[in-house]
Amino acid sequence: MFKKNRHGIQIKTAEQLDKMRAAGLVVGRTLELLRRSVEPGMTPLDLDVIAEKAIRDEGAIPSFKGYQGFPATICASVNDQVVHGIPTNARKLREGDIISIDCGAILDGWHGDSAVTVPVGEVDPKLTELMRITEEAMWRGIAALTVGRRLSDIGYEVERYVRGQGRFGIPPEYGGHGIGTEMHMDPWIANHGRPGRGPTLEEGMCLAIEPMVNLGTERTRVLADDWTVVTVDGKPSAHFEHSVAVTHNGPWVLTALDGGAERLAQLHN
Ligand code: MG
Ligand code: MG
Repeated sequence: MFKKNRHGIQIKTAEQLDKMRAAGLVVGRTLELLRRSVEPGMTPLDLDVIAEKAIRDEGAIPSFKGYQGFPATICASVNDQVVHGIPTNARKLREGDIISIDCGAILDGWHGDSAVTVPVGEVDPKLTELMRITEEAMWRGIAALTVGRRLSDIGYEVERYVRGQGRFGIPPEYGGHGIGTEMHMDPWIANHGRPGRGPTLEEGMCLAIEPMVNLGTERTRVLADDWTVVTVDGKPSAHFEHSVAVTHNGPWVLTALDGGAERLAQLHN
């Protein structure tokens, strides 16, 4: 019923891709709502409450909640937090912060997973640039998701773009992943490396592409809560993610409201 290829990567039928799209749209709409909700004075936990309600109102289940003991619906990672921040009420968001919001949902047994980094009010232009570069790196990686290309082309395109923008850190131990009937499936996807390696991309694969880019060093550590990943030098980090299907018509960005059409068309010009 759930097909895998010889590399152990789940291959979806057209009907299953439609279900992945439905799950992806729940996540996409939730993140759009969260993006519009972020403002100074809110706490990450306020955003978590909004996210859980939005997901459940659509008949879906927040996939992060309870995942390996994670206590919340979103990961909320502020400033020097790279990923996996636990949303709490401990500190209000302030003008000038950036917050990465990562969100996953299960609909009808199928997963969506996506993340955005959002400015809180007016932020330093260096942070605006960091977010722009990280998001663009994600789209460069997504554009490599065409039938016949190789898995390592994704990380190659991500890294090539980031390196071309200046000196930034790409934490090497974190990356993307296959997605489908589980949130994290084979293969693991690096955000760096050489092209032309690994499995050939084929129609029906669904992959979550998620670069993290640090303003300073690539080195990170995990806080005592066993979840929150922070930069070692305390400099800010950005994170963007989409879940994407490989199709004969090119990448289908399952968690983007327009399926990725606008951004992918810009890249091809
Ligand atoms: Mg995610
Ligand atoms: Mg992910």
